Amino acid sequence: MTRVVKLGNGLNIGDGSFNIIAGPCSVESFDQMDSIGKKMAENGVKILRGGIFKPRTNPESFQGLGLKGLEILKEIKKKYGFIVSTEIMDIKDLEDMEEIVDVFQVGSRNMQNFSLLKDLGHINKPIILKRGMSATMEEWINAAKYIEMGGNKDIIMCERGIRTFENYTRNTLDLMTIPIIKEKTEYPIIIDPSHGTGRRELIKPASIGGKAMGADGIIVEFHPSPEDALSDGDQSLHFEEFDELVKALR
Ligand code: PEP
Ligand code: MN
Repeated sequence: MTRVVKLGNGLNIGDGSFNIIAGPCSVESFDQMDSIGKKMAENGVKILRGGIFKPRTNPESFQGLGLKGLEILKEIKKKYGFIVSTEIMDIKDLEDMEEIVDVFQVGSRNMQNFSLLKDLGHINKPIILKRGMSATMEEWINAAKYIEMGGNKDIIMCERGIRTFENYTRNTLDLMTIPIIKEKTEYPIIIDPSHGTGRRELIKPASIGGKAMGADGIIVEFHPSPEDALSDGDQSLHFEEFDELVKALR
């Protein structure tokens, strides 16, 4: 049986519903987030993602707006009533983030940051635990146990693709993890077709495939102008493609 994780506002993951978590890779400006918020509301999508602390491979790449981004998330949350999900990279930011963030993401690069996982075990907010890009199923499930050990059982597993020899796609989205997680654990599981493929044209088929295989939802990136995005533009949907995706999944 899948555990039901309550997100707030009556939204649950793991209760048989299919949830869409959407937003940009990075929070860039109020106007960017406001147009995204409007588009989500139009589509009835109620859970917003958007990074403010970005774990970038190159230290010279955009690192996120930090606390300034948090202020933007706060305004957008107030305006549209979204549930807000964003990545926490360092537990020192928890105090600032707690008031606004409803769901904390642990990124792929931090899946085995055991001190972060242990600390998140002591909070009472849901955690999206992304699969490490080179992590086995066993390592990923054990990472979840590090959180659970502290008492926090509200864990949502997120398959975001793994590194393989294939490089046409950014990562290889391993949809087989859906039935495996369902069999081996009680955690709900969502799919990240954006990081899982790295190519916007593959997001719709990957999402439909994930839904067909029993995923509890997706987390997807979209942007008002992907060509100008400060991070992950190639895998961010245009607005019309986002409309189409939501329609296809419903
Ligand atoms: C993200 O969600 O923007 C992100 C950085 O994801 P991942 O940790 O899966 O690379
Ligand atoms: Mn991203």
